[in-house]
Amino acid sequence: MLKNKRNKIELRSLFLPVHFPLTYCDPFPLASYAFPTSATAGRCYPEPLHPYRGAFQRDRDRIIHCAAFRRLSEKMQVFTTEFGNYHRTRLTHTMEAVCVARTIGRALKLNEDLIEAAALLHDIGHSPFSHAGETALSQLLHDCGGFDHNVQALRIVEKLERRYTGFPGLNLSREILDGQTYKIDKMIMPLLEIQAVDIADSIAYDTHDVDDAMEIGLLSTEQLMRTSLWKQSALRVRQQWVNLNDTEFRRAVVHDLIETQVSDVLQATTPRLERWQTADGRRQQTIAPSTEIAEQKREMEQFLLEHVYRHPNVMVFRRRVADWIEAVFDYYISQPERLPERYGMIIRHEGVKRAAADYIADQTDRSIRSELLKLRPMVGNLLGEGRKCFCKP
Ligand code: MG
Repeated sequence: MLKNKRNKIELRSLFLPVHFPLTYCDPFPLASYAFPTSATAGRCYPEPLHPYRGAFQRDRDRIIHCAAFRRLSEKMQVFTTEFGNYHRTRLTHTMEAVCVARTIGRALKLNEDLIEAAALLHDIGHSPFSHAGETALSQLLHDCGGFDHNVQALRIVEKLERRYTGFPGLNLSREILDGQTYKIDKMIMPLLEIQAVDIADSIAYDTHDVDDAMEIGLLSTEQLMRTSLWKQSALRVRQQWVNLNDTEFRRAVVHDLIETQVSDVLQATTPRLERWQTADGRRQQTIAPSTEIAEQKREMEQFLLEHVYRHPNVMVFRRRVADWIEAVFDYYISQPERLPERYGMIIRHEGVKRAAADYIADQTDRSIRSELLKLRPMVGNLLGEGRKCFCKP
């Protein structure tokens, strides 16, 4: 009864007029080297300030509410559903990268809203089937600018998304766009918040790609013991715990891998922060691992390249994806009138190849398969052969 009464009062209070002053301020005291929201260079299409949401909060909300972001849930990271249902998708990878980036940001008293928005955005330009789809599209567009997921991310948020009446794209803040531009052109050292997103991305994928590959049997503990990063975490876990089964052991090591890398970044970064106050310091990477962990990460990434990303089963899949993307691409460039109406403007101004690439990049892994089923009478049964290649080794 009391509970009901309390709920009623709380519910009613939602509709009371707001009496607090509606001005935005950053939620935590920021460090002197952090980028304050009030310093933003603004948006391409000027908009009035929001009464209680900061510029980067609005950017975050716009990214989360856009269609390209939702589609990440059905885009692969490294493995597709044929490999099981444990692995990360492009969306869950993004969420893990956001978590790590915000942890680093809060510990260093950086602008967490800026970090969150930039991290949510960072992989939004991926085509279906991840780097396999990207490589295929890039080859198909070799004579007209190629295809790059980082460039596509900017294209989406500056041009392709149509959600708002006053402007194309999402009209994001300059700092978020600059952060994404840094992923294409590394000439200018970005804000510390963007550096935090960059290292968090790599901590997230280095770790979860190992976890996902082990789950489906592509990697074993014995193989991983050849990498220093895994070996040190594994030894720490063995010292701390006894009688763990294989799965428990793996999860404990994966947890330790993230903890080790994040702690190392924080420790290595702290003494570098002072130099950020100088012009010379701003030209150097500040938020980054120690030399030792950076070397171990390079070793781990090379290991993943050889044993996971170029695993024979994965390579078979990549070749099949290239055929799928090419079939859909060829169909639409030979019959551009079949593309949805909104691509008409792109056909007129940038050509049919770019329009077809934008359309394909806008699809998910599942919708490309649906297209191939629809196109079967024209392109043949590209989906039906060689499913064995997806099985566990
Ligand atoms: Mg990423």
